[in-house]
Amino acid sequence: MYDTVIIGAGPAGMAAAIYAMRAGLNLALIEKNPVSGGQVLNTWEVDNYPGLPGINGFDLGMKFKEHVDRLAAPCIDDEVTGIAREETADAAVYRIRLAEGGELVSRTVILAAGASHARLGVPGEEALTGKGVSYCATCDGNFFRGREAAVIGGGDVAVEDAIYLSRICSRVTLIHRRDALRATKVLQEELFGISNITVRWNTVVKEIQGTDRVTGLTLEDTVTGARETLAVDAAFVAVGILPDTGLAAGLVETDAGGYIPAGEDGATALPGFFVAGDARKKRLRQIVTAVADGANAATAVQDYLMRLKK
Ligand code: NAP
Repeated sequence: MYDTVIIGAGPAGMAAAIYAMRAGLNLALIEKNPVSGGQVLNTWEVDNYPGLPGINGFDLGMKFKEHVDRLAAPCIDDEVTGIAREETADAAVYRIRLAEGGELVSRTVILAAGASHARLGVPGEEALTGKGVSYCATCDGNFFRGREAAVIGGGDVAVEDAIYLSRICSRVTLIHRRDALRATKVLQEELFGISNITVRWNTVVKEIQGTDRVTGLTLEDTVTGARETLAVDAAFVAVGILPDTGLAAGLVETDAGGYIPAGEDGATALPGFFVAGDARKKRLRQIVTAVADGANAATAVQDYLMRLKK
């Protein structure tokens, strides 16, 4: 019987594991991807994590993992396929099913599964993914060295990606559906100072063109309705994230965006079921808030287990 099973080894899950290990809890940290770290691994430069200005996202992810390993937190490389709650005589237990078979039984769960890339949902996107359509500029940018790329979106990720790609590609077009970016001011200022980046305002992508590789985008001006083709070799889609909260279905409610409502301590409406990181309903989704969520959730788990013993 575990005290807690932490699902997802991104910054939230790893912080939760560090706090839970230091509190002497019997825990398992489960990660489905071959490398722990979560979305931070795909961030080229993290400039707002206190104390480590400008650190490469992959390096920061590795630092978190080294810390987890230094405390010898038990990590399981597997995918959770379902969570069932069972009432017992003294308290509820959670049965966590794993893809490779087997089941973990725990007093509590910390869901720190994070979020995945949102899709544009236009023709050509699915068929050309991996053939010029990418959701990770730092992973795939180098394949398009000296070529022309488009980035779609107007948030921090889109602007960071455009800046990153401007150093690799000959020309970068940032395509945004509105006339103002959502990205932080400091990123916007950097973007506007780069000569090989063009911003296309009030523009949406209607189709990604190409057969065995991306050749262009069908663009539509949202003001005039005019359509045109922009010839590009790559389309980097950065239109936000979707929380990976499917495992909570049937256990706790989510809001319209799929996020799980919970206070700062991560406690959901279901006793013993906690949420931390990007999957939690909150104002600011950053590495620093994910880490804080993990620490708070592990602490709340300790309080919960203490109450069970009384
Ligand atoms: P985001 O902030 O939600 O921005 C998504 C962007 O995509 C918005 O500009 C949105 O347009 C646009 N968009 C959404 N759906 C679209 C569609 N169907 N077609 C065209 N455009 C669409 O997402 P993000 O940039 O991926 O960032 C996710 C979170 O990670 C944010 O909270 C961000 O602050 C955070 N982040 C943090 C760091 C860091 O801590 N260093 C770095 C990167 C990201 P509208 O503006 O019109 O809605």
